Amino acid sequence: MNYKFEFRPYQRKFVRGIATSHGIWEIREGIILRLTDETNKIGWGEIAPISWFGSETLAQAWDFCRQLPKEITEETIFSIPDQLPACQFGFESALFSPPTPSTSLTHSALLPTGEAALQAWENLWQQGYSTFKWKIGVYPTPVELKILDLLTQSLPTSAKLRLDANGGLKEEEAKLWLESCDRLNTNIEFLEQPLSVDQFLQILELSKCYKTAIALDESVATLPQLEYCFQQGWRGIFVIKPAIIGSPSQLRQFCQQHEIDAVFSSVFETSIGRKAALQIAVELSRHNRAMGFGINHYFAEDEESGTR
Ligand code: MG
Repeated sequence: MNYKFEFRPYQRKFVRGIATSHGIWEIREGIILRLTDETNKIGWGEIAPISWFGSETLAQAWDFCRQLPKEITEETIFSIPDQLPACQFGFESALFSPPTPSTSLTHSALLPTGEAALQAWENLWQQGYSTFKWKIGVYPTPVELKILDLLTQSLPTSAKLRLDANGGLKEEEAKLWLESCDRLNTNIEFLEQPLSVDQFLQILELSKCYKTAIALDESVATLPQLEYCFQQGWRGIFVIKPAIIGSPSQLRQFCQQHEIDAVFSSVFETSIGRKAALQIAVELSRHNRAMGFGINHYFAEDEESGTR
């Protein structure tokens, strides 16, 4: 089957810039794809790279789209190299445009960093959220551990708390966090990416020494990384960002074959990419874990707009 291939760039501005380890992120940029088959059936896809997290850059994705002919085939799509994981996701999801998935899965809510978390959870709880994510490693560990004590005391017992260090802790700090979490023994769902990507073996070691579960995020940005960590013996939780990890069909195959414990998360894509990512999450989620897809309040408008 041949597909007519069209694409255009998009930009979406965040209501407030998002603090990342690489500075403030102000505008989400990506590419929307359209494939039209010989029966005029249309499939939409989205390429939403985050190069600092491990995917290709937007420029690389754009160059890839530009060098393609106006008509492409499934072979073109299934031979996109692993160096272009966000393109693999975008093209494959355009090929198999999914139906809108049911939204029966629960989502996690992001708390503000530091002390502000103590005031913020209640309003979110009233909105129906029961899984919260709190970014740590922002203030000194002793300060944050005191806040953690207060936070876990005030949260309802049925609430769950995810701690995300984004790779920013030192090994000694990570141990302090894990000791505290083991001692609290309540509410903590997992500690996410305590150490940097190049310290995977130390994270693996930590996961064997504490009761508190650890999740890998930055360490498993792409499928080859996911496979590597699994082969090295990681049996903890994997945070998967479908839009940048690579080919959805290969991801499905890997998750089903190895029955991994996965949490699915968005990368601030538009509704096109989010629909495809949610579909994957619905299919592959186990253990009833909430998804990190509650992101609409980050954007000024609901849908993508403004071509460049
Ligand atoms: Mg994370």
